[in-house]
Amino acid sequence: MQEAAGSEAIVMSQIEIPEKMLQRLRIGTSLPSPPAVAMRVITLAQDPEIDLARVADTVSADPAIAAKVMRIANSAMYARRRQSTNLRQALIMLGLNATLSLALSFTLVSTLRKDPPKGFDFPAYWKRAILAGTWAKLLASEFGRRDAEEIFLAALLQDIGMLALNRIAPEVYAGISPFRLDHGRVAQHERNCVETDHRMVGAWLLQNWNMPPALLRGVQHSHDPSAAGVEPEHREFVRCVALSGELADVWLADHSETSIRRIGNRVHNHLGILPNRLKELFDTIGEHIPVAEGLFDMEILSAEELEDITTQAREILLVRNLHQIDRNRDLENQQSRLRAENSALRLEREHDALTGTCNRRAFAEALEREFTAASTNAWPLSLMFIDIDHFKDINDTYGHQGGDAMLKAVAALLTGSLRETDMVARYGGDEFVLLLPGLDVRQVEAVAERLVYEARTRQVRAVDGRSFAVTLSLGVATYEIGSAFTNAQALLNAADSALYHSKHSGRDRHTSYERIKAA
Ligand code: GH3
Ligand code: MG
Repeated sequence: MQEAAGSEAIVMSQIEIPEKMLQRLRIGTSLPSPPAVAMRVITLAQDPEIDLARVADTVSADPAIAAKVMRIANSAMYARRRQSTNLRQALIMLGLNATLSLALSFTLVSTLRKDPPKGFDFPAYWKRAILAGTWAKLLASEFGRRDAEEIFLAALLQDIGMLALNRIAPEVYAGISPFRLDHGRVAQHERNCVETDHRMVGAWLLQNWNMPPALLRGVQHSHDPSAAGVEPEHREFVRCVALSGELADVWLADHSETSIRRIGNRVHNHLGILPNRLKELFDTIGEHIPVAEGLFDMEILSAEELEDITTQAREILLVRNLHQIDRNRDLENQQSRLRAENSALRLEREHDALTGTCNRRAFAEALEREFTAASTNAWPLSLMFIDIDHFKDINDTYGHQGGDAMLKAVAALLTGSLRETDMVARYGGDEFVLLLPGLDVRQVEAVAERLVYEARTRQVRAVDGRSFAVTLSLGVATYEIGSAFTNAQALLNAADSALYHSKHSGRDRHTSYERIKAA
């Protein structure tokens, strides 16, 4: 949730609220302020020095929230590798930002619900909020976004300005059912009445509560899935939020065929998700809604409402006729091109172009993550530095291309001999690094021994057809319970100095930092 404070001013400058409404908002009749736990979470979220232990303490101050965070960490969406049995593990699994967003959503929902406004369809308000949040998170996960929980929170809060407007100008909603009407028309009606609308008021409120800029931006642009006025890097976030509200309205306002087709087109135009895929997402949402109901202790839709409309949407979105399928194929090609471009960008960011292994940046992130997991859970973690011996000679004898072929061959050798949970990265030049969670000193020495042997016996073919072999020097360090390493960098330095030792005692060998120290 941390973001440069500078962007906040830009967001705020676009909030349009006439002075007389601002005055009414300021003199207190607005909303109950968030509870103490939420305020502490917000403050933590703004702190660049934030650490896991403090977040764990804050969240565990409210056992109900801690329990919900645990449930999410162990849900299918997150618990890929290990089940978390305590809050700290759950925090590592979810990450700080997701945990903070979740804690905020739970505390805000429970506080705001304690104080139902008069003359306002409060149950429908919460239906839209939670349905939209659930949709937004699902859309976000289509793009593999890591900030899915923040997107959830922004979508959950997108109409919060309505609660404030209802307090300071209750006449706006008198005699209408705002959640049965077209949502854009409701905002127009608000502007007719008070020269501003709930998006603006909501953004103003979040700003007053010192919420992160991403949330403000999401709320402020929640009616604009084209995200036209938003910087490119924030558009996907804003689009997920804006379309989530429209998807929620399929249950609340309008589930006519025209409306479902229209939302199908809009989701495709703005997010590149095809109707046939959206149809599948309707199945998934049908499974997620009951889970959200459990987490927020409220019934959002009866089982029949959920089933009826979900089935209807699925049928309407299913593209059957030939003409449509043709058009669809074009769209599909276009979509797979877009996806390919995105995934190519990701590859470029995280992978080394020559060898296809991870790059140093991806490695640094993984190392921090695995070190925290190892020290929290008392698992061993081994790290191995690998440098090709006399690599300059290979370049000199077989040319740069021969050198490149050798780098690729070594990368393939390393990648081929690892488990799924291990990571290999090119650290730079002719240096590679391996991260092996769960391996202790003895086990990692066996791996090192095998790598040294295999390199020595493997032949690489140069461009001119000549074959040659290389030897490798390895340096290994292992974090284990009771070891002196207090951070990831210390482990990295230890493996590096073990490598230096291998080089200086004749190359073509491996050295463990633990053994140098013992000697
Ligand atoms: P040592 O046994 O001490 O490691 O000797 P070395 O010759 O391998 O020395 P060093 O590790 O310092 O050499 C690295 C060389 O790798 C120097 C650089 O020219 C070469 N190199 C770096 N990146 C690339 C690359 O992408 N392709 C090729 N072909 N060579 C590279
Ligand atoms: Mg070398």
